[in-house]
Parts: sequence; structure tokens; C-alpha cells
Amino acid sequence: MYGKGILKGLGVTLKRFRDTYLDDIVWWLRGKKRYYSEEGIRHRSSKNTRGIFTVQYPEEQLILPEEFRYIPFLVYDGPQDKKEIRCTSCGICAKVCPPQCIWIVRTNHPQTGKPVPEPKEFYIDMDVCMNCGFCAEYCPFDAIIMDHEFAVASYNRNVYDLEKLLKPASYYQDIRPLNYKKNDDERKAKEAAKAAKAESAAAA
Ligand code: SF4
Ligand code: SF4
Repeated sequence: MYGKGILKGLGVTLKRFRDTYLDDIVWWLRGKKRYYSEEGIRHRSSKNTRGIFTVQYPEEQLILPEEFRYIPFLVYDGPQDKKEIRCTSCGICAKVCPPQCIWIVRTNHPQTGKPVPEPKEFYIDMDVCMNCGFCAEYCPFDAIIMDHEFAVASYNRNVYDLEKLLKPASYYQDIRPLNYKKNDDERKAKEAAKAAKAESAAAA
């Protein structure tokens, strides 16, 4: 019984060993580069890849799946010189963040002193962030999204401020196209329903 298990395990190891070299040979016979080429990276990032390979990081980097997440960023709409920050500084993300690494200062109207729905300051301590994605999951405005950027190590304390956290909606669309489309469709449907409700109230 034990012998059978060992043989099965060795069979798996042998298959991985064979596939590793077979894939290399097939690419070599086709005159293509499995390493250091766009095609090779695409192949090794896909489910069609076989065997074991080394990723020659940082010279090459595998394509990350859409749902990969690391640190969060804040989304703004519109052009860079006229940012429309989606965040309303509601504070939900800060409340749900398990290690409590988000802190927000809300904007107040200079004359009335009443709160304005946008952040004056927004900080995330990236050294404490555990990349759970709760902030993005709970944000009601799709204002905070998990990034694909992971090379953020530094010798200093990594606290990101509002300026460093803000990224355009087009970047969000680039890294998470399916997620962006889903959220965008939902937002548009909500806005249309709100406009229709206001219209019918005005007519009444
Ligand atoms: S990022 Fe979202 S959840 Fe966090 S304060 Fe802004 S609007 Fe609220
Ligand atoms: S990813 Fe998790 S730990 Fe990091 S800021 Fe968001 S809620 Fe906090």
C-alpha cells in the first residue's frame, strides 16, 4: 500500500521533470524563446504552460491575473488637472480595515464649516496593510481599489498620502477590465434610476 503511494508520487515528479524539458525542447525546435520574450511570458502565464520554470524577475514578470491584489489605491475620474475624486470620506474603509492602517481627514466648507464629501487628507500605512481587500470590498463608491503594484519595498516607513494614492479611472480599467465594467454598469444603472425617480417626482 505504501509502495503504491510512493510510486504514484515518483510518477508525478517524473512527469513534471519530463514536461519541464519537453516544453523547453519544443520551444527550441520551433525557433522560439521561452524566456525573455513577450510570447514566452504570455505562455508561462497561461494555463497551457507545462513543467517547472524560473521567472527571470525583475528582467521579466509574469502577467498577473485580474483578481491579483496587493496594496489599495484611490480612484479619480476626469483629467489629471481636474481630478474628480470618488472618495466621499465616509470612513467605511477605515472602520472595516482589520489592522486599522487607514486614516482620513474630512474636508470642511471654509465658510460654513459643514463637512464636504471629499477627503482633505487620506493616508494608508502600506507597511501595516495586510492586503486583505476589505476596504475595496466595502467601499460604496468604488473609490478604493486593490492595485497590482507589488514592488513597494522601501527603507523608510511606507505611508502613502492622498497624492500618492490617487490613480485615474483609466488605470483601474486597464488592470481590472471585467471588474471595472461590472462596477461601471452598476453605477450607471443606479444613476439612471435616481434620475428617473427625480424626474417622476418633479412631474408629480
Ligand atoms: S474610499 Fe470609499 S469607503 Fe473609504 S472613505 Fe472613501 S468613499 Fe468611504
Ligand atoms: S487591504 Fe485590508 S489591510 Fe490593507 S488598507 Fe485595505 S482593509 Fe486595510
